[in-house]
Amino acid sequence: SNVPPIILNNGVEMPQLGYGVWQVPDDEAERAVATALQAGYRSIDTAAIYGNEEGTGKAIAASGVPREEIFVTTKVWNSDHGYDATLRAFDTSLAKLGLDYVDLYLIHWPLPSRDAYVDTYKAFEKLYADKRVRAIGVSNFLPEHLRRLTEETSVIPAVNQIELHPHLQQRESRAVHGELGIATEAWSPLGQGKGLLEVPAIVAIARKHDRTPAQVVLRWHLQLGNIVIPKSVTPSRIKENIAVFDFSLDDEDLAAISALNEDRRLGPDPATFDMA
Ligand code: NAD
Repeated sequence: SNVPPIILNNGVEMPQLGYGVWQVPDDEAERAVATALQAGYRSIDTAAIYGNEEGTGKAIAASGVPREEIFVTTKVWNSDHGYDATLRAFDTSLAKLGLDYVDLYLIHWPLPSRDAYVDTYKAFEKLYADKRVRAIGVSNFLPEHLRRLTEETSVIPAVNQIELHPHLQQRESRAVHGELGIATEAWSPLGQGKGLLEVPAIVAIARKHDRTPAQVVLRWHLQLGNIVIPKSVTPSRIKENIAVFDFSLDDEDLAAISALNEDRRLGPDPATFDMA
């Protein structure tokens, strides 16, 4: 495929654009992931809580694409924080995926009120030392949580996967990631496809380049250096979302999109979210 890699802080290459499967039921995930692999995606983002690791694994096995050419991410859910629980949860995820390693394992949420993410991360370091994961990282971590990890553990997270789109541009987190050597991965990169893709400034840039608003938003992320994992179960959109490597936005386009920041979250606030 023509998706360029991002080199993570341990030298592992991760495709800059992948396919996210949140809210795809397990029995549809197999077909959706198969469509994505056929369209050229080589990175898949799932999570234990999505309930579709089995369907995802079946699609990978059936695809005929060599395992080492696919970058698989999964995440430990909130109910499995803590050292021993995390090791068990990892075994369960691996069995459901039908794999013998994953490329990237993420702590799904920091749950600061439970104060267990350091122990959870120490289990991640064990999995990494045992070569059962090629890279370890976090999701939804605020700068204060990242700083605590860097003080109390030894492996700098390779990635922080956070909500990021033109209405929530996360300038502070992106700067801290840059300082610490952590790659920024954007979840809900299309703003969940709701109002964002109808914003006049984005529609105008799409017309100018003869592209779709979704392609323009993905291009903005890529030119900023973000990793993106757009989700769609519609085959034409799955193809559209990866067809973003043959055009670029100019400085004026980038500035117009950067002016759309509203610091507005669609998802929960990581400082307080503690759902088990
Ligand atoms: P997204 O921003 O990728 O938007 C997906 C929605 O946008 C689709 O359901 C569809 O309605 C629409 N869409 C997609 N392609 C389109 C196109 N070309 N044209 C028009 N509309 C289009 O939102 P998402 O699914 O929330 O996020 C993507 C991935 O991020 C998820 O699948 C998941 O893997 C990950 N994620 C992670 C977390 C986390 O806490 N770590 C949270 C949410 C999502």
